[in-house]
This record gives sequence, C-alpha cells and structure tokens, in this order.
Amino acid sequence: EVALDRRDEMDVPGWKVGDPVPYAALAKAFALIEATTKRIEKTSLLTSLMLLVIQRSEAGDTDSLLRTVYLCINRLCPDYTGIELGIGESLLVKAIGESTGRSLQLIKADLKKEGDLGLVAMNSKNMQKTLFKPKALTVPFVFSNLKEIALSAGHSSQGKKVSIVTKLLAACKGEEAKYIVRSLEGKLRIGNAERTVLVALAHAAVLAERERSGKKWSTEKLASRLEEGASIVKSVYSELPNYDVVVPALLNAGVGKLRDECKLTPGVPLKPMLAKPTKAIGEVLDRFEDKRFTCEYKYDGERAQVHKLADGTVGVFSRNSEDMSKKYPDLVEQLPHVGSWLFHEGGFLSLNNTVHQKNTETFVLDAEAVAIDRATGKLMPFQELSKRKRKDVKVEDIQVRVCLFAFDLLYLNGEPLLHRNLTERRELLRQHFEPVEFEFQFAKSSDSEKTEDIQTFLDESVKDGCEGLMVKMLESEASYYEPSRRSVNWLKLKKDYLAGIGDSLDLVVVGGYYGKGKRTNVYGAFLLACYDADSEEFQTICKIGTGFSEEALAAHYAVLQPLEMEKARGDVKVGGAKPDVWFEPKVVWEVLTADLSLSPGLHGSAGTGITEIEERGISLRFPRFIRVRDDKNVDDATGPEQVAEMYERQVLAQGGGQKKKKGD
Ligand code: ATP
Repeated sequence: EVALDRRDEMDVPGWKVGDPVPYAALAKAFALIEATTKRIEKTSLLTSLMLLVIQRSEAGDTDSLLRTVYLCINRLCPDYTGIELGIGESLLVKAIGESTGRSLQLIKADLKKEGDLGLVAMNSKNMQKTLFKPKALTVPFVFSNLKEIALSAGHSSQGKKVSIVTKLLAACKGEEAKYIVRSLEGKLRIGNAERTVLVALAHAAVLAERERSGKKWSTEKLASRLEEGASIVKSVYSELPNYDVVVPALLNAGVGKLRDECKLTPGVPLKPMLAKPTKAIGEVLDRFEDKRFTCEYKYDGERAQVHKLADGTVGVFSRNSEDMSKKYPDLVEQLPHVGSWLFHEGGFLSLNNTVHQKNTETFVLDAEAVAIDRATGKLMPFQELSKRKRKDVKVEDIQVRVCLFAFDLLYLNGEPLLHRNLTERRELLRQHFEPVEFEFQFAKSSDSEKTEDIQTFLDESVKDGCEGLMVKMLESEASYYEPSRRSVNWLKLKKDYLAGIGDSLDLVVVGGYYGKGKRTNVYGAFLLACYDADSEEFQTICKIGTGFSEEALAAHYAVLQPLEMEKARGDVKVGGAKPDVWFEPKVVWEVLTADLSLSPGLHGSAGTGITEIEERGISLRFPRFIRVRDDKNVDDATGPEQVAEMYERQVLAQGGGQKKKKGD
C-alpha cells in the first residue's frame, strides 16, 4: 500500500486545501507516468494525483478533480461536443520563439533532431535566463486558456492563439512547457489510456472515502473495494461518457451510488457495441453452441445512433460520437417525423405497464444509415455515402438519399434498456416504431439456427447489397448491450472476406515512399500501422503499394502531404521500416489481406509480446486497400491483440497451433 502511494513525489510546497490545483503537480505526475511502461505503476501514479487533488479540494468543489481528469486525458469537454485541441506545428514554433527569444531556425533544427516539440519547448525554456519569477501556473488557468484556444476559430484567431500560448509558456517552469506544448499538439504521449484514467479515478474515490471514514480496512477488503469501484466507474462511463456528470456524481454520491446517479441519457452518445470477426458459419455455430441467436443483414453504410430528447430534439451521432446532423441533414429532416410516423397511433407508449404521454417520449436507437436509390429501393454501397462532405451538406444538393436501418433500441421513454435481453429490446423496437418505405426500416433478420438457412440468408444479404451477416445472442445476460466492447456475443460474417482472414483491418498511414516513373510526384507506397490502445503507440505492420490507380494516388497525396513529418512521431514504433517520409498519424484505411504471416523484422512490431510470436511480429501478406475510413479515429484502428487473435484463428483453421479451446 505504501509503495502504491506516490503522493509525496508530486506534491507541491505551499499547496493548501482550497487552493487552485498547481499545474506543477500534474507536470510532476506526467513525468513519472511517462518514465514507466508498467500499467500498474501508471495507475497508482494517477491515483495518487487524483487523491491529492480530492484531499486539497474544499467540500463541494468538484471542478478541481474534473479539470485534472480532463487534462490527464487531454480533452476539454465530452468527445461529442467536437471541441478539440490540436494547434499546428508552425504556430507553436512561433510561440516558443516569442516566449523564449530563440530563432525559428534553431527551434526547427532542434525539432528535427528530437522529433518532439514538447521537449524542444522545455529545453528552450531552460536555456533562457529568467529575470523575474513568473506566477505559478494553475490547473484552472491552464484549462481555461486551452479552452479559449480550442474555441477560437477563423483567420483572425491565429494571432490570438499564438499570444495565449506565448503567455502560457512564459509562466512555465521545469517540465511544464513539455506537457503544455504536447497538450496543444493534441497528444500528451505519456501512455495514459482512458481506461487507466477511469480505474485511477475509481481508486482515488474509494481511497478518499476510506480516509474520510478514518476506518482501517483489511487488505482483502481494500482490494475488493478497489476492484469493485473500478468496474462500477468503467461501466457507468461506458453508458454515460461524460465526465462533467460522472466526476461530480462520484464525489457527491460516492462509488456505491454512482450507478443510480448516472445512467444512459438521451443526448449523450454512448460508444457503440462492436463485433468479432468469424471466418465460417461453422465457427459461428461452435461459438454459440446451444444458445439462441439471430442473424441480421450487415448493412454497408455508416453507423448512426439516433437520440430523441424529452424536448423533441433529435441528434444523430456517428460511430465516433461525432454529431452527424451536418452530414445528414436529410436524415435529420426525416427524423423530426419520428414522433408522428414512427410511433403507433394514439401517441401512447406502454412500457412496464405504465402509460406515457407522447410528449415525454425519449429514445436511443442503434442503426445503420445506408445509401438508397429511391426509385428502385436498391441499396448502394458505402462509397456512395463517403462521397458526401462531412459538413455543411445542403438537403437540396443531395443526390443520394439515405435509409435508416434500426437494429437495436437502447433507451425508451425514460428507461435504459441495456440490461434487457436482445429478444425484449427487439420486441420493443418493433412495437413502438413503424417502418416507412425507403426512410426507416428494421434490420432484416432470421432466427433460424440451421447451417443451410444461415447460408441462404448470407447469400440473400449479399444479393441485397449488404456486406454479410451480424450474428447476435438473443437470450440471457450474454445478449445485453455492451457499450464500447468488441463482444464475443456479436459476430460478423462478411461474405467477401470468408476466403481471407475473416475481416479487414483498419490501419493508420504513418509513412510514404515516393513513386517511380510516372509516379514520382506522388507517393507510390505507404507504411501502415495498427494502434495499441494500452501503450498508446502505433506499431508498423506492413507496406502497401499495389492496386492504386493514378487518381487514387493523387487523392492520397493531397490528403497526406500536409501531414508530412521529417521524423517518426514519438509514439510510432518504427521497427525496421524506412519510408521516405513520415506522416502524422491521422488517416485510417481499411485494408484486406490474403493472410497474416510472421515477418522476420522488416515491418511489424505488431503483436510483439502478445502471443507466442513474441519478438518476431506479424505482417500482412498481399495487403490490398479497400477504402478510407474517415468515420474512424486513429485510436479506433485495429489493435495488435486483434491482429494476434486473427493470426491465431488462421493458424487453427490451417490445422496448426494449439488445440482449440471450447468457447474460444
Ligand atoms: P466494419 O464496419 O469494418 O466491419 P467496425 O469496426 O466499424 O468494422 P464491426 O464491429 O466490425 O465495426 O462491425 C459492426 C458494424 O457493422 C457496425 O459498426 C455497424 O456500422 C455495421 N452494421 C451493419 N448492420 C448491422 C447490424 N445489423 N447490427 C450491427 N451492426 C451493423
């Protein structure tokens, strides 16, 4: 317990109860967290920081902890508000120059050498002789300035941003400049995965409760309370991903009552449940054994989570919780009818035998928005939707319309349904909503568990323009909705990919190779990486260079060229790769591969340490580009554990490896 308590190492002299949290405490904690790769140590360091903040906060002050949490994950607001940090390198270089008096050339030369602007800022500050002592930075001051930067937009905002950054940097001491600059760049790079932050938050709350009670707990009791707390906070946050609500509730009501205080709420998009890939119908039957399941069409569109709030507002959110109303104004226009055309006549809903007035109707639907030809009703592939701009789409300019295919109901009329089984959720969906031709449909499903029927349904789905099937558990707890989980209770069976490894991969473009011959003005090949959410690192996995048309290469060049960097960013695990240019990891591509192979080194740090293939890494054979996934963030890219899982399944399918475990 003593070893876990690291508060002394990050305390700041003179910090009293009721004072604003000194930013120096965060910088010290960040430096300690950055210095270790051990997840447990990172967690106890973060726990110590949060515990310290709780203890130095006056009763009723929830803001101090809330802002600390936001700065630890480098965000300012909930994800879905779309307010993000991320200032361009040139503005930051300018601000570092202005606050330290160093020339831009020197700063740029240092950046080339170090590959980390945060470090350059810190070193530049430390070279400077300070005549007077600046006022110490505090968390509320840093937070409000970062927010002002994130909120200022337009041409005139550039000067304003530089002056705010200059002001912040002028006040930095020690390692503070390093973390302020990295925050401004959009990535803290200390390996602080959100999961770790959630566990630390729970642990800090439990420990604070214990210290307040003044009671001694046995080691067993402490361990079980910590474990229970972490599981409560993680599950609550996955239902209601909004720290503005969760942190105050945690401090005011305590861990034990958190579940009652924070529930799925329309207006706050939850991270969607995801599926595991399968290679064959036989594998589906093996996995689900004697359980009841349903097969649904896997529509080839874009995930859409539709929320209706009590005031009648309708919100449509993407897979990444982005507000999609600007991309799909037509969908939104279709949705205000929801109240009139999706509900049964009379305007009354009956749930749990209670009758509700229509004006209290609220819901959260999980659905896929699919391009549709309104003349024929034919579904069109995702590519049709991807041609749309992501913002400022005008209804009158829209050529291709969308139809919404609902497959789940997560909330209805004041009641979260996540802990109801799928049979019930589907029942409620069908009872309370009504399909409208070409606008709103239920996902087509078949509950037959016979191999031949599944095969026929799979063939039909492809004939109807879908990617294949989603197979879902219907009964018991196994069929509850699991937000943000890639669950074994949802399996995907993609027709096109059955011959390959069962699924495509979503990889991040981290490097480029100049083309030859006609292609010298563009990149001819690319270096791709998967994303390890635990270490927050990109692990290079393959080079891809065939199958691109000239137009495609030109289009990729236009997107990637502005992201060029002279050195791999610090969080890109390079392996043996030597591309001509590095890119800031921002772009996600969907890639298909014939199979996965062990690569003796050239590319591929992926998988290292995850399976028996330690140290050697896994690589993709004959990777083929399918499409750009701009509905995915880089941290949604395929992870090394998924790659390793795919590799293991492939080995098993080929008859090698260990014996298959039941339920694997
Ligand atoms: P991909 O879309 O490339 O398969 P993904 O990582 O976005 O991958 P998966 O879990 O692999 O998500 O597949 C589920 C996706 O399929 C959902 O995000 C959703 O967009 C889409 N989908 C289409 N039809 C259905 C359905 N009936 N049930 C659930 N998801 C569906």
